Amino acid sequence: MSAMRRHSRPRQGNRLRGLDDGGIHLLARRKNEFAESDKVKALLWCARHCCLCGKAAGVGIEVAHLDPKLSDFDNAIPLCFDCHGATGHYNPRHPRGRKYNIAELKARRDQVYEQYTRPLVPPVLYFLAQRGATERQLPDVGFYISNLGNTYPVRARVQVKLAQSSRMWPENSGHFSGRALWNLNPGFSVSAHFDVSQAMLEKEPLRARIDVGLIDIYEREHKLLPVGYIHQLGTSDDWYLEPSEEELGIPL
Ligand SMILES: [Zn+2]
Repeated sequence: MSAMRRHSRPRQGNRLRGLDDGGIHLLARRKNEFAESDKVKALLWCARHCCLCGKAAGVGIEVAHLDPKLSDFDNAIPLCFDCHGATGHYNPRHPRGRKYNIAELKARRDQVYEQYTRPLVPPVLYFLAQRGATERQLPDVGFYISNLGNTYPVRARVQVKLAQSSRMWPENSGHFSGRALWNLNPGFSVSAHFDVSQAMLEKEPLRARIDVGLIDIYEREHKLLPVGYIHQLGTSDDWYLEPSEEELGIPL
């Protein structure tokens, strides 16, 4: 009995100390721990391929921190054990080689994410028009968007900004605000429209910038390049495409 007591005291003490240490460790870990849903998303986006060397890592993968203090999704990078070691334990004063920096790691990670999520994005067609599939009369402006694929649904985020000479018009609200998500099933088309004010139909050509983001089934957004349109009002009855952002002159 007494021998057991002698054993039990220090064991309990150790256990308590262990708990204290563990508790502190856990607290510290929780502070910068990624949300479980973010870890799942990161692993889906790279299909469990290391976001540095690109190898298929299977269970030998970790969702590592770019900055050890931050726990937001943009700070996560899936890495194989080798690459995690190489990024985390590199001596910055070592005279040979070159340290990985966060900008490089993010760019490489995004490229791997893109490689494994791009095939989930169907071809999508969209345009601004008064005629054809839309048939609208100013001040009503027609917008058409279609999921041309026959496999995956996709959600579109559409933002339209209008300007005249140096004046930016107030932002579109609702469907064209860039905040609403449009559900586009395979083979699905939407013919939508928005109003411009009478004040916009006088004098200067009307310019429109359209930004579209496509959100795949794993919730990764693929931003498309902005598309610009110009309507000459009095001298034309439809919009024409302006491919140069500089010519269009409407910042995001
Ligand atoms: Zn690797």
